[in-house]
Amino acid sequence: MAKKTIRDIDLAGRRILMRCDFNVPLDSSGNITDDTRILGALPSIRHLSGHGAKVILCSHLGRPGGEVKPEFSLKPVARRLGELLGMEVGFVASCTGDEAMGAVEGLQDGELLLLENVRFHQEEVVNDAGFASRLANGAEVFVNDAFGTAHRAHASTVGVGSHVNESVMGLLMERELKYLSEELEAPQRPFVIILGGKKVSDKIGVINALFDKADAILIGGAMQYAFRKAQGHNIGESYVVEEDIVIAGQLLDKAGEQGVNLLLPADSLEADDFSDDAATNNISPYAEGGGIRDGWEGLDIGEKAIEEFCQVISRAKSIVWNGPMGVFEMNAFSRGTKAIAQAVADSDAMSVIGGGDSVTAVKKFGFAENVTFISTGGGASLELLEGRDLPGVSALDELD
Ligand code: AMP
Repeated sequence: MAKKTIRDIDLAGRRILMRCDFNVPLDSSGNITDDTRILGALPSIRHLSGHGAKVILCSHLGRPGGEVKPEFSLKPVARRLGELLGMEVGFVASCTGDEAMGAVEGLQDGELLLLENVRFHQEEVVNDAGFASRLANGAEVFVNDAFGTAHRAHASTVGVGSHVNESVMGLLMERELKYLSEELEAPQRPFVIILGGKKVSDKIGVINALFDKADAILIGGAMQYAFRKAQGHNIGESYVVEEDIVIAGQLLDKAGEQGVNLLLPADSLEADDFSDDAATNNISPYAEGGGIRDGWEGLDIGEKAIEEFCQVISRAKSIVWNGPMGVFEMNAFSRGTKAIAQAVADSDAMSVIGGGDSVTAVKKFGFAENVTFISTGGGASLELLEGRDLPGVSALDELD
């Protein structure tokens, strides 16, 4: 059932509490090192303010563990937000209580106020009803635009909804749901899923959910070694989690039975050390008896794998990508991830990058402008791809 958005309700003159995901990385001096998440919230903030709402923003930042820790203050976010919007953004050093209430009561139509980190209170993550009621600060409407925490039932993502008249989603949340859920219900074919990163267990839900839908599932990153080990190949000192080998074996059997195209990298780049100046060697394809030598570890996909993966991607009409192909943070092992990012960017398919490290990689290599959609959520995007309901979305009002 479709949920209401901020476009479906009256806004003028109303007090609106919007949960954003301002969980931005900060350096040791408190400077924001990547403002992507702030940029993501701008369309909703502009819409609310432009329609004359009194806008109260809240968010978490980091993991202060329910205590006030100045290094996790949202104050730098208020400053950056003001610069990006070209307008004043008020800031109040608490999210509940008299000070917050006073600031909220002073808001004029169209004005913006950012409350302090909701995770300075331990009641936030346990979804405490009293805290949720105080956090609502007398707002009439709750807007959830924090996709990155929509998979958590916290006071600021779910609880506040019980203390307002209307609960709707913001424009960022709407776009995330469109690309990670609606568009994938009946994707244009061929539909290709690219998975990488470290753990099979993190991605197994996605693999299972999309098993029947995908025309090809490409597996890269350290994940591949659980599959190669399950097949009996040598993987040397490559990263692998013991329990993942069992899971990978089961997935290989299931793919065989159902005729699913689960494609593993044909070869690997092995290194004698986990460092940029390690000695490296492109192994011969596994199918020809290749494997990672003892004392060496696979840190990227190989030449033949890059060629095969790029070919599959070039024919795709829909692509979902989550997880790097290798240790892309080091130059020596970034080739596979860069080639895949290039292939996704070159393709005219609908391409969705599902959060986390693959987003960092796509940006690092300069291809961010050439993909259809980049998710702002890591865990939330995986849960959505798994077909699970997100508590922060389920709690919102449905369209009549
Ligand atoms: P994840 O959080 O599971 O998506 O994993 C991302 C991390 O996996 C990145 O930091 C990569 O450096 C790392 N990674 C990718 N391929 C490998 C590999 N072959 N060996 C070790 N780490 C890897």
